[in-house]
Amino acid sequence: MLRLTRAATASANGGDGKQGRSGASMSHYSVFSLARNALRGPEAWTPAWRDPEPKSFYDVIIVGAGGHGLATAYYLAKEHGITNVAVLEKGWLGGGNVGRNTTIVRSNYLLEGNAHFYEWSLKLWENLSHDLNYNVMFSQRGVLNLAHSDPQMDAFRRRGNAMRLNGIDAVLLDRDGVRDMVPDLNIDNARFPIYGGLLQPRGGTARHDAVAWGLARGADSRGVDIIQNCEVTGIRREGGRVTGVETTRGFIGARKIGLAVAGNTSRLAEMAGLRLPIESHLLQAFVSEALKPVINTVVTYGAHHLYISQSDKGSLVFGGDLDGYNSYAQRGNLPLVEDVVTAGLSLFPHLSRVKLLRHWGGVMDMSMDGSPIIGKLPIEGLYLNAGWCYGGFKATPGSGWVFAYTIANDRPHALNQALSLERFATGAVLDEKGAGPVPGYH
Ligand SMILES: Cc1cc2nc3c(=O)[nH]c(=O)nc-3n(C[C@H](O)[C@H](O)[C@H](O)COP(=O)(O)OP(=O)(O)OC[C@H]3O[C@@H](n4cnc5c(N)ncnc54)[C@H](O)[C@@H]3O)c2cc1C
Repeated sequence: MLRLTRAATASANGGDGKQGRSGASMSHYSVFSLARNALRGPEAWTPAWRDPEPKSFYDVIIVGAGGHGLATAYYLAKEHGITNVAVLEKGWLGGGNVGRNTTIVRSNYLLEGNAHFYEWSLKLWENLSHDLNYNVMFSQRGVLNLAHSDPQMDAFRRRGNAMRLNGIDAVLLDRDGVRDMVPDLNIDNARFPIYGGLLQPRGGTARHDAVAWGLARGADSRGVDIIQNCEVTGIRREGGRVTGVETTRGFIGARKIGLAVAGNTSRLAEMAGLRLPIESHLLQAFVSEALKPVINTVVTYGAHHLYISQSDKGSLVFGGDLDGYNSYAQRGNLPLVEDVVTAGLSLFPHLSRVKLLRHWGGVMDMSMDGSPIIGKLPIEGLYLNAGWCYGGFKATPGSGWVFAYTIANDRPHALNQALSLERFATGAVLDEKGAGPVPGYH
């Protein structure tokens, strides 16, 4: 077990340690610390977060050390001064979907209830590396949605106009505009003709592991306990309110509990006696061997379903549809590999000899209208952050920010007002595409 003291780490990092109330001493990363520690050797670097034993009681417990749980803890401490917080993780920090996704970040939504929320998240992304003093490698290389018919161009025109009215950047490209932007795209002999596309220039990608690590470091330095290898196995209630969680490391008391467990949401809700409008499905991601630069933006292809970008290392990073069955296994099936690769080659046939290096799966909590749920649950002191479908990575900072607000104030922020669980009872659902959880409809 590693416990850092300010004195020990401050001397190790040359006296520039910064510390939250009871968190690890956080050395400030800069070109100077890089140069200094390069001379001193690798042992000069201090661990980025502690590995504490759980306390018997916390003001707030967040279940799940994925992007959303860590961001929530970070903003609880930073924005609301609530630092007696634990993040409980059954595996290792960042081992869930936050480290398994295809890293696409955007805010190109049509509906008001989604648009402002995702745009706020994008604004947080734009300053996240600076805020965390940790390079999350956010790259605003643009996200380009291809259109394959006149009606789809009309739909993109409508969405682009709605985005602009909401103060979000959007550019409608014609066929030549798409060709100029992605010269290697198979436009003239396309399987589905390409009519143009909707570009969000401020969209892009971020390094997903770094997002988890940067948020963990920021939360820990403000006093949050991040407890790995600690699975929540039950939610204890008394008189209609939560009192704590049963875990593989014993009972831990809490005034408030926030669930941010992505693909395991139904399991956790069941522990509290709740049944949610969520289905769990697999989604796979794929990475090729490293290539010289061939794609300088994110391209999405709705006719077959593919999204593809190129990482800074040179690998093509891509994905497609959900696997068609419900599952909690973090691995997918082979027919989908063929399906996604076929989609990729119909857009970029010249890549047919590129080797696929790795692929993996994550468990997605698909909500019935395709939009997330962030808010209070009908049990006092219990809060839910779930239903991220294909797109929770881009929401990471915004989701943590509004979830922290909701937990701290016991009411939703205006930005997540429309994302309540009650919408499934009132009928005020937020259905961007009429797709819901159905594989193959996205
Ligand atoms: C293949 C793939 C590609 C994707 N591509 C994109 C994309 O390009 N853009 C985008 O915006 N989104 C994308 N997503 C979606 C995005 O990754 C998720 O919506 C988002 O990461 C979910 O939130 P999270 O980071 O908090 O989840 P996670 O990282 O999964 O965190 C949840 C954590 O809860 C823990 N947990 C579960 N049960 C318990 C328990 N009982 N006790 C304690 N801990 C528990 C898990 O171990 C996990 O670490 C993709 C997802 C996948 C799988």
